[in-house]
Amino acid sequence: MTEAHILLIEDSSTQAQQIRLILESAGYQVSVAAMGNQGLAMAQALVPDLILLDVILPDLDGYKVCRRLRQQGSPYIPVLMLTARSAVEDKVEGLQVGADDYLPKPFDERELLARVNALLRVRQQQGELQYRLEEVRQSQEVWRRVAITDHLTGLYNRHYFAEVLQQDFEAARRYNTPLACIMVDIDHFRDFNTRYGHAIGDVVLQGVAHILKESVRRADVVARYGGEEFVVLMPMSNVAAATVTASRLREMVEARVWESAAGPLQTTISLGVASFPEIKVTRAEDLVICADRAMYQAKEQGRNRVVVLTSPDDKQEQGERDRSGSGNWYRPRNSGPT
Ligand code: GH3
Ligand code: MG
Ligand code: MG
Ligand code: MG
Repeated sequence: MTEAHILLIEDSSTQAQQIRLILESAGYQVSVAAMGNQGLAMAQALVPDLILLDVILPDLDGYKVCRRLRQQGSPYIPVLMLTARSAVEDKVEGLQVGADDYLPKPFDERELLARVNALLRVRQQQGELQYRLEEVRQSQEVWRRVAITDHLTGLYNRHYFAEVLQQDFEAARRYNTPLACIMVDIDHFRDFNTRYGHAIGDVVLQGVAHILKESVRRADVVARYGGEEFVVLMPMSNVAAATVTASRLREMVEARVWESAAGPLQTTISLGVASFPEIKVTRAEDLVICADRAMYQAKEQGRNRVVVLTSPDDKQEQGERDRSGSGNWYRPRNSGPT
């Protein structure tokens, strides 16, 4: 350990001098406080590696000082109590209020150094452990972020969206607040890729993702739902509010021009809106399915538009169901970029 710092709280200047000398000759850096309160203040300001604490002090006794040190919380500084009192009850009380060791005066210099050493060793191990724990916590955070992020667009991925959807739907039901969902799909994107290439397609995909992310409120969650499909989840938004947002998103994408080697490029999106409880669904997934059905209507009505679904069993959807050929409207989705 590189020159451990020890705080000595001792009112007798003779004894303080003597102990300081022993410790400094052993290579420790020593600070001295002559009162309990001063010691507490210095402990907080200096954060020493160890505190040697006399029990009998003019203001607060050592037990009180120790108790307050422990109440101050982290970082944990080991305490070695020094006193002339050597009754068993005194030792027990010292340990009970949070001292780590106890040394009755007068003590042998070698015993003092041995105990100081032992406590500093524990302190160092504790420091290393804390460091490792912090490392683990940080890498867990990084992994968590990777696990919930779509790598192409930087948006949340579908996996995270599913988590948030359940939570937000649960909250909306419990507190009787609205929850809106907007499904977004880029129009004729297959043709776009075919004409300009997948790389330029990716740039436009990222650009659309960026517009979505930057144009919604902080409380809203934007996720990449599939290849060129996005979903926006909006707590506290009714149909009217979500429709305003959806229209703004549509206009922004339509107005945006991407410069590319192939010249200026533009694209459009189709959007479907559904909001609970205006749309009466009982499961979170059904809200997304409704928004998706609305989005499909937008496609059928000519694309580059917003459609709002007002009823979960909208008869218009029959056609869509047949067209998908899957026998129901729980349409299988892209699970990632193609
Ligand atoms: P529609 O207007 O009906 O949505 O037509 P579409 O061509 O956009 O729809 P479809 O779902 O048939 O095609 C989606 C296309 O999106 C297929 C694929 O070429 C493209 N796509 C999906 N993921 C990615 C991606 O990560 N990068 C790029 N460049 N293209 C993608
Ligand atoms: Mg004293
Ligand atoms: Mg699609
Ligand atoms: Mg599409």
